[in-house]
Amino acid sequence: MDFRFAPEQEEFRAQVRAFVESELPVEWERIDPEGERAWEITCEFQRKLADKKWLAMAWPPALGGLGADLLTQLIYHETMDYYHAPAFTMAVAWVGPAVMLYGNEEQKARLLPRMATGEDVYCTLYSEPGAGSDLAAMQTKAVLDGDDYVITGQKVWTSGAHHANLGWLAARTDPTASKHRGLSTFVVDVDSPGLTVRPLINMAGQHAFNEVFFDGVRVPKANLIGEPGRGWYNIATALEFERSGIEWIAKARRRLDQIIAHVREHRDILENNPQLRFELADRAIEVEVGTLLCYRTIHLAIQGKAMTYEASASKVYNSELTQRVAQTGMKVFGPYAGLGRDDPRSPLTGQLTHSIQSGYLWTFANTIGAGSSEIQRNIIASRGLGLPR
Ligand SMILES: Cc1cc2nc3c(=O)[nH]c(=O)nc-3n(C[C@H](O)[C@H](O)[C@H](O)COP(=O)(O)OP(=O)(O)OC[C@H]3O[C@@H](n4cnc5c(N)ncnc54)[C@H](O)[C@@H]3O)c2cc1C
Repeated sequence: MDFRFAPEQEEFRAQVRAFVESELPVEWERIDPEGERAWEITCEFQRKLADKKWLAMAWPPALGGLGADLLTQLIYHETMDYYHAPAFTMAVAWVGPAVMLYGNEEQKARLLPRMATGEDVYCTLYSEPGAGSDLAAMQTKAVLDGDDYVITGQKVWTSGAHHANLGWLAARTDPTASKHRGLSTFVVDVDSPGLTVRPLINMAGQHAFNEVFFDGVRVPKANLIGEPGRGWYNIATALEFERSGIEWIAKARRRLDQIIAHVREHRDILENNPQLRFELADRAIEVEVGTLLCYRTIHLAIQGKAMTYEASASKVYNSELTQRVAQTGMKVFGPYAGLGRDDPRSPLTGQLTHSIQSGYLWTFANTIGAGSSEIQRNIIASRGLGLPR
């Protein structure tokens, strides 16, 4: 079996790399990834990607894409994520695919092209204070009233709601049905009267997620995506797209490359701690394994097959690996690794601790967001190994 990419695919990878190197400002890796300047750079960079139709490259041209194959899209994301470039949008990654599968023709024509251009920025409104791992326990209500659904309840840990203009919402439309059957999915305007976004600050000191309160928010019936009561299945599909993402492993690879480059230049590190040599070798093996697990999910998607436990296996392995790589980095850089981004002695300009998804402080969240490691292992055990629930 030949795992290498074809020459034209490698050429495309080089094109993406050249684009990032020329278009992403050098300050990008030095600034607070959740600060205002980072958001400005993100918007500007995404506009350029949209101009090239790269943002949603695998979508049909009529919807703003290039009709690229999934492998080309994988190379694009892998390269962008390796450089921690702001090329990712929730809209394209999982809201759009869910709308394509479950939305009607009017909704597809109205919503998808604006996702491909990055004009609409989405957040994901699933989790609630009493419903995270047990997501189907969500209590936010959507009650039909004339031509609108009226939404009441609270969501939490909503990443990027402070930047989003639209939300991909799951809410309970039938309180009498069993918990998995009473849910529906909607697209909601974040500026709607009655909707309040409040910041939550994470342990890296960054404003990345929020609480979102719904107090009688009216959502037009036309924004119900899919059949009422079938929302659980729409979310489950969207979560598979989310969990199969290449970002954890691509970012871990970059971080490991930087750590190894540092050790090569400072050989005394290994003299003082010879065990690190084996640890770095372990991380290097793990990065290759994690990459293949992720490629496998994409291979299934290319064949049109469902990825269920495979997406979970990739997610659990790669999110946990980001933590091991970050911990190895902390050992290599020692006490300096704890310095803030603004300190000139801070290694890798503070990225080792603060970078989204690969910084030491951030990596703790990787095994919780998109479903915790325990939940992924439950999925692998029941759907993959056929063990009783
Ligand atoms: C960085 C980040 C970004 C996020 N972004 C979003 C977002 O944009 N939108 C959104 O809707 N949500 C988001 N979330 C929320 C995330 O999906 C939930 O935090 C996650 O599903 C866990 O739910 P919980 O926090 O309620 O923990 P709980 O469900 O209360 O779990 C607590 C602990 O119990 C364990 N546990 C629970 N049930 C079981 C079980 N059956 N078997 C074994 N162990 C179990 C869990 O693994 C965990 O360790 C985000 C979270 C993070 C960390």
